[in-house]
Amino acid sequence: MTPLFEILANLCLGAVCAEHILPVSHPMTQQKCEANAAHVVSTWIDKHPAYTVKDQSCMSVAALAPKAISVTETAPNHFVHFGKVEDVIAGSDGDVANTGFIIGSDGVAVIDSGTTRFVGESLYLAVRQKTDLPINWLILTHMHPDHILGAEVFQEAGAEVIGSEKLNSAVGIRAESYVGNMLRLLGEKQVHGTKVILPTKAVSGTFEIDLGGRVLTLANYKTAHTNNDLSVFDQTSSTLWTGDLAFLEHVPALDGSINGWIDVLETLTSMKARAIIPGHGRFVADHPDGLQPTLSYLKALRLEVREALAKGENLATTASHAGTGLRADWQMFVSFNARNATNAYVELEWE
Ligand SMILES: [Zn+2]
Repeated sequence: MTPLFEILANLCLGAVCAEHILPVSHPMTQQKCEANAAHVVSTWIDKHPAYTVKDQSCMSVAALAPKAISVTETAPNHFVHFGKVEDVIAGSDGDVANTGFIIGSDGVAVIDSGTTRFVGESLYLAVRQKTDLPINWLILTHMHPDHILGAEVFQEAGAEVIGSEKLNSAVGIRAESYVGNMLRLLGEKQVHGTKVILPTKAVSGTFEIDLGGRVLTLANYKTAHTNNDLSVFDQTSSTLWTGDLAFLEHVPALDGSINGWIDVLETLTSMKARAIIPGHGRFVADHPDGLQPTLSYLKALRLEVREALAKGENLATTASHAGTGLRADWQMFVSFNARNATNAYVELEWE
């Protein structure tokens, strides 16, 4: 087989320069890569006018293997990258969410794209280590920046970007603050090249993607973890990608509705599936057992917040203790529990 090549470009934003992969939608030989590189780079600069180009080159996909993100083949042609269980913090690369890809006989679907363009590029290279089939879809499970900010890489690779019908407006109103927050947390070097893009296709109810002998069923839900959650079910391996509807290890983060989230998890519990891939947490879990930790946490938190409301406790007092007995079960607890209790209080006080 002829070796395939990718375009590398050394791009600068002011004085901060970094090397990026600039994907194209068709596999390139070395000759084609070298013929196309200057044009691809100048097209990219047109779309990112704050950047300048220093130089560009071509490198084989095989030689780029060390830059590819690590993936685990959890079922045949079904690959998962397990993000770190930590906050997006200064000095880290921000790689904290689970992502992955599924390969059919005609093409590939990528699920979530990571916190920055660099994370997206390394996921793209992981796909290219496994197949040169077209990347037809990037599926975004919900709006949170650790899942979506690498998306432009896959759009450049030719993917249609698809999410819940509410994702477009949810991301649209938060785009600037997402990138601004990441710049503050990770710095210019890590966030280099990162730009928010909006999905181009919306799922209302359910939607099927046929990758060639392999069908994925996408489904959206009422407000739960967020108001734009989308799950992906791979029929071939009977694996359910929950996005952040399920957390393992990492304490759940409530940014939607506690009542809605409990209802949605109960619905997911009754579906037929073999395995689940959570949005955070470094392992594949059996279905439905892998949904239980999130469900148990949310139910316990709701009960305690309702009891506090019945006693007439104020928001600050409730947020200081509700759910804290569950601390031993979870990592990142202190970063999220009080905020979860606050959001639950605000929702439940009007019941
Ligand atoms: Zn999330």
